[in-house]
Amino acid sequence: MSRRRQVYEGKAKILFEGPEPGTLVQYFKDDATAFNAKKKGIITGKGVLNNRISEYLMTRLEEIGIPTHFIRRLNMREQLVREVEIIPIEVVIRNVAAGSFSERFGVPEGQALPRSVVEYYYKNDQLGDPMVSEEHITAFGWATTQDLDDIMALALRINDFLYGLFLGVGVKLVDFKIEFGRLWNEEEMRIVLADEISPDCARLWDIKTNEKMDKDRFRRDLGKVEEAYQEVARRLGIFPEGGPRDLKGPATMQ
Ligand code: UDP
Repeated sequence: MSRRRQVYEGKAKILFEGPEPGTLVQYFKDDATAFNAKKKGIITGKGVLNNRISEYLMTRLEEIGIPTHFIRRLNMREQLVREVEIIPIEVVIRNVAAGSFSERFGVPEGQALPRSVVEYYYKNDQLGDPMVSEEHITAFGWATTQDLDDIMALALRINDFLYGLFLGVGVKLVDFKIEFGRLWNEEEMRIVLADEISPDCARLWDIKTNEKMDKDRFRRDLGKVEEAYQEVARRLGIFPEGGPRDLKGPATMQ
């Protein structure tokens, strides 16, 4: 890790300078935070699993024509990505009521929504990521109306695809958060999917039992957190072959 210059450290990931200009190395930590970092902990093996799960989902999305920042996985905890200018908006897509949506609108957790709902939150820890509208986003200059049209269209396509993908392995995609970035190529700019897609930023429930298989197990002290992340990887058919011991292996191991 020390061989590269660190560009940014977030709550669950570190970004290092990549081997070529315009690339970054995204390192996945085991650190877990919730409630705007008021609750902290370690989920052993989470970084390895999220690296693999995010690689898998981004690759599947690329195959259906969704542009992403993902280039390739480098090792157990690192992936090579394109350097993008992150749009400071968290895009949340919901299929079923849960979490802050249930609290805000008084809809019981687990109630299916009549259609998918897309929400925007301003990425700012100091302010506690407030919910914002298109008006706020364009007035503050975080994104243009055209950017938001692209983001909305991509978010809905991503949701449709992932909803079906998870359904196929017996998992209900209740909601998830994604982030987008601007990728510059000469004069041209494209909006691409960035960050990660993993059980850290999604609600995934077993289709039959509604058992939670995501970060809510950590947030709500439900136990069996590591096991839940492993189960998501297992259902997707990408659980490391060596079993759980593999998850603690050295960062540079393939
Ligand atoms: N989420 C996230 N990062 C955040 C806030 C939310 O990844 O900073 C994800 C969260 O895991 C869930 C979805 O976005 O899958 C919707 O979260 P919600 O607004 O219900 O907030 P929460 O109840 O998690 O505070």
